[in-house]
Amino acid sequence: MNNSKLTAPKDGVYEFFKQGHQIEENSLHLIGFEFDGTACFRKGARLGPDSIRSNSPGIESYSPYLDLDLEDYSNLIDLGNLPVGHTEDQTANWRIGTDAFFKLTEKSNLNKDRAKILTLGGEHSISYAPIKKYLETFDDLVLIHLDAHADLRDSYEGHHYSHASIIRRVLDHWGDNHHLIQYGIRSGTKEEYKWMEQEGTIRKSLDNFLDSIKEIDPMRPLYLTLDLDYFDPAYLPGTGTPEAGGETFHSFIRLCKILKSKNFVGADVVELAPEIDSTGNSSVFATKVVRELILLLGRDNK
Ligand code: MN
Ligand code: MN
Repeated sequence: MNNSKLTAPKDGVYEFFKQGHQIEENSLHLIGFEFDGTACFRKGARLGPDSIRSNSPGIESYSPYLDLDLEDYSNLIDLGNLPVGHTEDQTANWRIGTDAFFKLTEKSNLNKDRAKILTLGGEHSISYAPIKKYLETFDDLVLIHLDAHADLRDSYEGHHYSHASIIRRVLDHWGDNHHLIQYGIRSGTKEEYKWMEQEGTIRKSLDNFLDSIKEIDPMRPLYLTLDLDYFDPAYLPGTGTPEAGGETFHSFIRLCKILKSKNFVGADVVELAPEIDSTGNSSVFATKVVRELILLLGRDNK
């Protein structure tokens, strides 16, 4: 683990985190994965994890939406950022971080240990490691995919594990009782749309999407992979492939309120590219989104 790079401030959201080196029982763990090697349009998502940490002093510990306060939480652990390679071979660079994630979590049964992980990207390809771990742990996992893009390509620009293929790649590890729900998608190939229609994974309206989540058995484990380009670029322009016609913060809060009464076991937040938005507002927006997820995921561990 590369804790030397950790910039966790001692106030704001991260006042409530202790720095750690391993997965512990009854705890929520934050892991940064600073990789953006396959980003095709505008890079910079590698700066996402530390930008979210360093913006936290501007964010209150209390969420009025969820009526939850980080002051009441004691088992929040920041494991720092995974090592990544910096060679010409982007697949090898990605593999170093991905293997480090597996090594870090190999001895943990996240279910039995009641251990949770919130992974911060990085581009969307970094979600492969946490989602694979969660699919192996929970044979009835529901994967909620919020994104502007379908991410179902078999490969993209020569990268098998591309940010544009992440959902396709986790389907390689799919079991009979795993379930996928996709919402916010407004960009994809004809083939990707055909697949989502055939498999019934895509939800086309907010109400329809939220109803699908409400209907899920409260005991069934839910994992969220959140590509921040889900949000409209008017609110969050600091992302590699912005797509007009996106969602609002309030649509996300409506989801969070439902997740409060569900078995929400893990999440990743990806594709924040701080330097693309010179105002810095995108990072502040993302930090607030992450606070809500910390409050929801850490709640059982009070
Ligand atoms: Mn996307
Ligand atoms: Mn994506």
